[in-house]
Amino acid sequence: MRNPNLRLNDLVSRGRKGREESKLMNVKVPAHVLARIDRVASNLGATKTEVVIAILNEGLDTAESELRGWTPPPKPVVPKERRCTVKGCDRERVAKGLCATHYQAQRRARAA
Ligand SMILES: [Zn+2]
Repeated sequence: MRNPNLRLNDLVSRGRKGREESKLMNVKVPAHVLARIDRVASNLGATKTEVVIAILNEGLDTAESELRGWTPPPKPVVPKERRCTVKGCDRERVAKGLCATHYQAQRRARAA
């Protein structure tokens, strides 16, 4: 791989840097996305790999800047009288005093 820090502008200006370590990432891509990558690569005279890396870098920069300071919303707290009776489990009970996970586990254990 020529340049893992590639940006779309690099492809336009053909600015390239040295080689760096790369790893194979096997990803299924929808056919229409692949066709668009093909078109962009062809228009820029770049390889599909270069276009994918450039787009990933652009997208990651955007994601990181948009997620700066973001924290996941707090999990809703289930009142004690509605919690699963299994020790250490704070999910809501759905059947026989158990949450869905522990109820299913109990059913599987009985079926076996
Ligand atoms: Zn549970």
